[in-house]
Amino acid sequence: MKYALVTGGSRGIGRAVCLQLAGMGYPVIINYSSNHEAALATRQLVEEKGGKAELLPFDVASKEAVDKALSGWADNHPDDYIAVLVNNAGIRQDAMMVFMQDTQWEEVLGASLSGFFYITRRLLKDMLSKRSGRIINMVSVSGLKGLPGQTNYSAAKAAVIGATKALAQEVGARKVTVNAVAPGYIATDMTKDLDENALKTLIPVGRFGMPEEVAALVGFLASEQAAYITGQVISINGGLYT
Ligand code: NAP
Repeated sequence: MKYALVTGGSRGIGRAVCLQLAGMGYPVIINYSSNHEAALATRQLVEEKGGKAELLPFDVASKEAVDKALSGWADNHPDDYIAVLVNNAGIRQDAMMVFMQDTQWEEVLGASLSGFFYITRRLLKDMLSKRSGRIINMVSVSGLKGLPGQTNYSAAKAAVIGATKALAQEVGARKVTVNAVAPGYIATDMTKDLDENALKTLIPVGRFGMPEEVAALVGFLASEQAAYITGQVISINGGLYT
């Protein structure tokens, strides 16, 4: 069977992506870091809609944890493979660069950039040999435009954009597509400390986006209809930045 793995699937955009892909018929692997309750709630929502989901907690930034979790999963699923990978896990730790601590740099790059590398490298082998795969990387308007206070986050997301474009060219002939989705402000835990009323005046559509709106785009990129789209960064930001 073809599975979908969603990193950071316990909450926010990742939860909505799990529901979207499960609705498209994929059994979903919900990765998360530590919020077991939220992951269980995501699984329950998937099951209530008639889908299938399993939990696979691991720290995407740890090579050892990624290898251990994914090799364990493969051992338990000898006839299955992960055909859709959504590299969604990410964190923000904002600070002006002059005050930025080593850990703020390392942890933000770890979750978005190292996570992308460790997981994708491993899952690519099956996708290439089966000649079928979809890789969708969650980046950000910050990685396109750069935002003050986010040199770490902007660097991580811009790096994933570069990797998306390079990898798409490596694997296109094997029917594996690689794209990035770049949200603007989406209403999740990650943005709950922001002043939505002030920020929405900057957004042409006049509001924050919903996780389900991002998930619908991810679902399209994961579908057969999107077979000719690869190496792209698709913004979903209410017109904030193009
Ligand atoms: P969120 O609500 O804060 O959820 C973050 C998710 O990532 C959680 O499932 C969390 O797991 C998981 N996670 C964090 N670090 C991890 C690690 N090291 N290993 C495994 N899982 C980890 O975030 P969100 O707003 O949905 O954001 C999802 C993605 O979209 C991120 O990559 C973010 O950068 C990007 N994005 C978000 C926005 C926005 O406005 N919200 C805009 C642009 C881009 P736990 O539940 O266990 O903590």
